[in-house]
Amino acid sequence: MIITRRQLLKKGLLLGTAGLAAQHGMLRAAHASDGSKSAAPTPPPELFDSQALDIEFWVKPRTLDLIRPATGERSKLLYWKDGEVLEPAYQQLCHMLRDVNGKQTAPMDPKLLETLWATQAYVARFGMTRPLEILSGYRTQASNQRLIEEGVPAARKSLHMEGKAADIRIPHLHEEVLGELIQSFRQGGVGFYYRQSAQGGWIHTDTGLQRSWKG
Ligand SMILES: [Zn+2]
Repeated sequence: MIITRRQLLKKGLLLGTAGLAAQHGMLRAAHASDGSKSAAPTPPPELFDSQALDIEFWVKPRTLDLIRPATGERSKLLYWKDGEVLEPAYQQLCHMLRDVNGKQTAPMDPKLLETLWATQAYVARFGMTRPLEILSGYRTQASNQRLIEEGVPAARKSLHMEGKAADIRIPHLHEEVLGELIQSFRQGGVGFYYRQSAQGGWIHTDTGLQRSWKG
């Protein structure tokens, strides 16, 4: 589904600040101190169909810029070039996507890395060049089980345990917009986790069956 201007306006996703991304209506709504929404929305284009991307987009060298809020780590790595995954960078990305609670690293699905890269490269076209936040990547069985026991949304047979899923966020980008974009790549499952905090929610992306849900 492509988000229309009307839908964006209705949901109050627009932020009246300068900047290309803001002009495209992709940012989270800012709330003034009196609780009212900021004014001056500008018309966002219907820009969420990544199927319209040309081959140039897909053959360029791929750099991923990731941050782990839990540890403060950041890595910006060229990991794919001329159709090949570059092994040292791939290993570093797996480390970035490791289970930071269980302290274990696992091989991550290159297709997942492709989704993360494509998402980041796509929004960069709209001036959003902040690192992609990785809230969760690989999870050991024990870590996944602990999340379930703590009441955090986690599936018993989570694809996180197979290195095929990540929970992500892009600063200031509304999770609905992010999720719709990832869905448009048609690479796997997408979970929308809306939260009313200042940082908003997050998006689960995996390389399993194409499906979506709200959690
Ligand atoms: Zn997840």
